[in-house]
Amino acid sequence: MIDITGTRQKAAWDAGELPPVEQVRPGMWSIPVPIPNNPLRYVLVYVLELSSGVAIVDAGWNTDDAYAALCDGLAVAGGSIADVNAVLVTHIHPDHYGLAGRVREASGAWIGLHPDDAVQLKGRYVEMDELLERMKSLLIDSGVPDDKLPDLNMASMGIRSAVTMAEPDVLFADGAPVELSGWDLRTIWTPGHSPGHVCFYSGSRRLLLSGDHVLPRITPMVAVHSQQVSNPLGDYIASLLKVRDLPADEVLPAHEYRFAGLDRRVDDMLAHHAARLDEIEGAVLRTPGVTSWDITVGLTWSRPWDDIPPFMQRGANGETLAHLVVLEFHDRVERRGSHPSRFHPGPAAGSGSADLVAAARHDPPQLA
Ligand SMILES: [Zn+2]
Ligand SMILES: [Zn+2]
Repeated sequence: MIDITGTRQKAAWDAGELPPVEQVRPGMWSIPVPIPNNPLRYVLVYVLELSSGVAIVDAGWNTDDAYAALCDGLAVAGGSIADVNAVLVTHIHPDHYGLAGRVREASGAWIGLHPDDAVQLKGRYVEMDELLERMKSLLIDSGVPDDKLPDLNMASMGIRSAVTMAEPDVLFADGAPVELSGWDLRTIWTPGHSPGHVCFYSGSRRLLLSGDHVLPRITPMVAVHSQQVSNPLGDYIASLLKVRDLPADEVLPAHEYRFAGLDRRVDDMLAHHAARLDEIEGAVLRTPGVTSWDITVGLTWSRPWDDIPPFMQRGANGETLAHLVVLEFHDRVERRGSHPSRFHPGPAAGSGSADLVAAARHDPPQLA
């Protein structure tokens, strides 16, 4: 269990409200920036005061409301949008990257992103035809029935407007310091939720800005999709272990609320994925030849499957695939055929997931 340090954020979360703009450290603020029609409700943008101007970590969704909330929050922190010198983006998702271009236009700030997310910008937001074609192929390979295909394939087209196509000015490198006066931020590359996801760590302040990598309540989506690398969950597990033992008194996530107990939270999330791996392997053992889609529909969900919107059904299938890839990697399942791929028990079926986490701890590259 974690210790919740963002108690006002937690109270606001429970009440279904936006939390206040808060000073979280001397020279450091958190601004909740609303996300439209999303159960996460807001992204927490962090403001870091520099010797002149400020840097922000993440930017928010590209809507007028979000932009206004960011401007208002900066005013509470004693500044304005024109003071922003740098936009450090943890990853390419629209709730983090969406407003970056607009902030740069207003302030002249530089935008920083990891190269593995930067390379996706064009394909993700511009060359949509190819992306749609690849997604369709992935869905057919997963065993999605014909009548579900059109809805699932078009499921995320609506979010394109949420991001302006802003190329980054700075590319973050794993382990490298971020040049900000008065701050000792270091980039920690944590692929998994997205290929180029990064966290930022301050040793002197004992803080981890965790983006979507480690959140206090939910596990971030880690899914195979048409722009995701071959073994995202393997990467994600290795990335969790990469941050687990950092000396951090507090974790500043991009959603929900601040907390302490990074190692305990990481262990909970590893246990969650281990259990899901076992559950998915169990489905393959019970029904050899099952498809990813059939496994997904048969898993336990927080509401009836048919009430889950297509966008989230597709994400759920991508998460199942991410677990299947890890199981495949460890010879616990075997993939046969394509369009659709069918899964059968592998030679190491039934060996359990406890070893997998232990192995990742000692030899992360094996999973990556
Ligand atoms: Zn995200
Ligand atoms: Zn997010």
